[in-house]
Amino acid sequence: MKDKHIETLCLQGGYNPGNGQPRQLPIVQSTTFRYETSADMAKLFDLESNEYMYSRLANPTCDQVAQKIAALEGGSAAMLTSSGQAANFYAVFNIASAGDHIVASSTIYGGTFNLFSVTMKRMGIDFTFVDPDCTAEALDAAFRPNTKAVFGETIANPALTVLDIEKFARAAHEHGVPLIVDNTFATPINCRPFEWGADIVTHSTTKYMEGHAATIGGCIVDSGKFDWTKYPDKFPGLCTPDDSYHGVTYTEKFGLEGAFITKAVAQLMRDFGSTPSPHSAFLLNLGLESLHVRVERHCANALKMAQFLKASDKISWVSYPGLAGDKYYELACKYLPKGTCGVISFGVKGGRQAAESFMGHLKLASIETHVADSRTCCLHPASSTHRQMNDEQLLAAGVSPDLIRLSVGLENADDLIADVENALAQI
Ligand SMILES: *Cc1c(COP(=O)(O)O)cnc(C)c1O
Repeated sequence: MKDKHIETLCLQGGYNPGNGQPRQLPIVQSTTFRYETSADMAKLFDLESNEYMYSRLANPTCDQVAQKIAALEGGSAAMLTSSGQAANFYAVFNIASAGDHIVASSTIYGGTFNLFSVTMKRMGIDFTFVDPDCTAEALDAAFRPNTKAVFGETIANPALTVLDIEKFARAAHEHGVPLIVDNTFATPINCRPFEWGADIVTHSTTKYMEGHAATIGGCIVDSGKFDWTKYPDKFPGLCTPDDSYHGVTYTEKFGLEGAFITKAVAQLMRDFGSTPSPHSAFLLNLGLESLHVRVERHCANALKMAQFLKASDKISWVSYPGLAGDKYYELACKYLPKGTCGVISFGVKGGRQAAESFMGHLKLASIETHVADSRTCCLHPASSTHRQMNDEQLLAAGVSPDLIRLSVGLENADDLIADVENALAQI
């Protein structure tokens, strides 16, 4: 299946039924799995067998969906998590502990910014946030001897900055650490970060992947290419024995292709348990079956909307990386030639008050925290997702107080534009 196009993988990646088996992915709604002998069971606890034992760690339905996402990203292994937050937490915590340091783009999603700068800081992990547009020298200066990874978003939510993945990968690799890229907004349909040097990809599958605003979920994919064994002192968790599994060394036993994900499942899923339900994984899989069709339409509708907004005299600014003239248009052409995403941000003339009035007059676009949904929705981040930030942090995150985030859905583009036009006329 690996040689197939991405559209085919959306439908037929992952689950591959044998003769007489169900055509659609079976939901294995079982917490536990039966074995004949205690010796069979012992093998599972020694990581000597990859059969299933308990659905907190792994479940066949979830695994098959993870394998589909691994195929879409061109990775070697993947795991589902119960949310995008859990995916980003696990991806970083799998290689960083108290006393370690991470370099991250300052424009990342507000929830991730909070996870890093507040909660993970409490765990003793330090973060340096860098402007994603900084020079190679400034990026280089952010590293410390205890830096364990670099983190960014392909297209940032909601700042819509496009990450120069090659620049970030080069800096990470020069310092002997992996680049983790949250690819939620781009999806592998529009960008596959591994092809540009990223080492680990994360997703909030809650967004385009599931696509219907029905299920929260996340995913971590490993490229299998980062050589942890070159830096055993930096990554002892991957390169030295794990006492909680009778001295297994992940890189030795599972190779570069399997070490990162196996460790994350065996340790973090075991201990934190942010497990998706098999039914949620099934719904995610239904979404993935049409991902390539939906993403293309989201992008086409959003481009039309962005062009309309750009031409409107009620709008003070528009940010959409797919729009010619946008600050990130060149980077988008390089990394996202097929399209960017369905999300646009813009400012209404008249600032915060006009923004709130405008949103109140929308009929088709509803006010929601959600984004990247099949139905059009919008949000004012400064008073919601980013309200924990002060003005300085807002600015650094690329979120101005008047910013409206419009997530363009799959409705008819002319209907959506008429809705926005009507609301603008009533401010
Ligand atoms: C939504 C989002 C997350 C968090 O995902 P949840 O599924 O809501 O936990 C992380 N990163 C990005 C880019 C997001 O858009």
